Amino acid sequence: MSQISFSDTIKAQAKDANRETLKRLSGPQRIHEARLGITMDSGEVEYFEAFRVQYDNYRGPFKGGIRFHPEVDKAEVAHLAFLMTLKNALLELPYGGGKGGVAIDVKQYSQGELERVSRAYVRAFFEAFGSNTDVPAPDVNTGPREMQYMLDEYQTIARRKDPGAFTGKPLVIGGSHGRTEATGYGGFYVFDEYLKHKNISNKQTIAIQGLGNVGSYFAQAAQAAGHSIVAVSDSSGVLFNESGLDIESVITHKENGGKLSNYTSDRTTLLESSELWSLDVNVLAPAALGGAINESNARSIKASIILELANGPVTPEAEGILADKTIIPDILVNAGGVTVSYFEWVQNRTGESWEKDEVLKKLGEKIRKAASSVFNLTSPTLRSAAFTTALSNLE
Ligand code: NAD
Repeated sequence: MSQISFSDTIKAQAKDANRETLKRLSGPQRIHEARLGITMDSGEVEYFEAFRVQYDNYRGPFKGGIRFHPEVDKAEVAHLAFLMTLKNALLELPYGGGKGGVAIDVKQYSQGELERVSRAYVRAFFEAFGSNTDVPAPDVNTGPREMQYMLDEYQTIARRKDPGAFTGKPLVIGGSHGRTEATGYGGFYVFDEYLKHKNISNKQTIAIQGLGNVGSYFAQAAQAAGHSIVAVSDSSGVLFNESGLDIESVITHKENGGKLSNYTSDRTTLLESSELWSLDVNVLAPAALGGAINESNARSIKASIILELANGPVTPEAEGILADKTIIPDILVNAGGVTVSYFEWVQNRTGESWEKDEVLKKLGEKIRKAASSVFNLTSPTLRSAAFTTALSNLE
């Protein structure tokens, strides 16, 4: 892992960053590593690499998700922990940045095996966690169920209740209303704020890559506001309708386990996955994978706005090619999830339970304020404006 790359990234994005801050953020504060030995259902023991990177805690406890994915490694987790540091600062949350991961392909293991991995992860790094020190949350392939296992293991070892030690929990054990919708809706609030800032109409045509949690809630909010979702994709293909898809019906089809390629309606056309990028739309919203927009497809993009709902969907090379487009950056666009995680933590600490409307209203206020400060800054790109704003909250 190159420690130089973090300060290089900051220097490239925010040239006038404070020297002391730059030095502090040139590498993670602490890296926890373990090899988790897990007894499989067969009785055999398998080993998995696990990490927790505590990048910076200047603003408060480390905060960031735990992902289960075969490609997890120390460098990737550190990079994501660095971006969490910036995201939390950009949203003015009282948190530093952290991230965790286990190198595992969840599809190969039973629910019982994944529960044992979740619990072993907490046993390995127990001292690191706590509502005042480091607060994990779900990430790729982890969700409320894994947070429940992890919190239970944590509280069992600690011999006391500390529900704010993990966020993204099920509602009954202290989760927050609105957490499921938070990232997609947050992405819509940022988009809406951008259109208002630029005086652009509420009749944009939008193509979305990935109709999972984030993509679905973004699509619903955008359509309700009068925009037209003309294309959505999953790994089976792109569903296209020039006059706008019936997004509720497509989401129901996906929720029932259907692929987009099996969706039947007279008014839709099925395209190849790769055709999404060259569609003649106003907005492209990648909501699936990192690196989705790269050197191979960036030149074909016609959309003038790219809304980064996913983490890192535009590679640096593609960003160079897309210099004449507006890229609204991930650390702002998808910050709704961690913002509602923060609301969950506050509710756990005060013993309150807020209604969904209240949570979403607070989310809207907080993320629109951050968006507005980014959009009002004079900077070469919105990414550099977001980095500069975040860094000013870390000095
Ligand atoms: P998800 O698993 O619910 O949805 C991802 C969707 O992408 C799935 O529907 C999947 O079918 C689709 N997909 C996978 N490969 C694809 C391909 N090749 N082409 C088109 N679609 C494909 O995940 P999510 O929670 O919606 O997260 C999406 C992105 O947003 C990720 O990059 C994640 O890191 C980021 N993110 C999520 C949250 C959150 O709160 N969920 C917060 C911050 C960032």
